[in-house]
Amino acid sequence: MTCIECKKSLSREEQEVSVHSYGVALCNRHQNRLQKLKEHNNTPMEAIQLYYGLKREGLNPMLEWYDGKRHVDIALSRVKLNIEIDTDYRTITHEQAMRDLEDASNSFKNGFTTLRIPHILVRCYLEDTIKNIMDIVAGLKKNIKAIGH
Ligand SMILES: [Zn+2]
Repeated sequence: MTCIECKKSLSREEQEVSVHSYGVALCNRHQNRLQKLKEHNNTPMEAIQLYYGLKREGLNPMLEWYDGKRHVDIALSRVKLNIEIDTDYRTITHEQAMRDLEDASNSFKNGFTTLRIPHILVRCYLEDTIKNIMDIVAGLKKNIKAIGH
């Protein structure tokens, strides 16, 4: 197996550690880079998996994108789509749910649509999740064209 960032071939150990921690195959150098981001923002593994999945499909996702107020797990700025991975959706409190709604509302004021995806979908149905996001991206592109930007 090779690193999906730089195509360097990986040792068995490198590969096992990477897949276990990030859900994707990365060399030590690229693991370190992600580790810093992960420690700083508490990035869920599924956000990393989805980020690389969307990249593979030819999109330009940004991981832990700072929108001026907060970090968004994944942003697709060309179509103004924010993607948040919900890791604790089973135990969410109404306070947290309200904060999420307010965040979505603030993003919407800047023209961004927010999509919340349970981490279990990414973990178990990555390809279907990507396919649905691609459909949403295609729809958003159409809307942007219709408005005339
Ligand atoms: Zn690499």
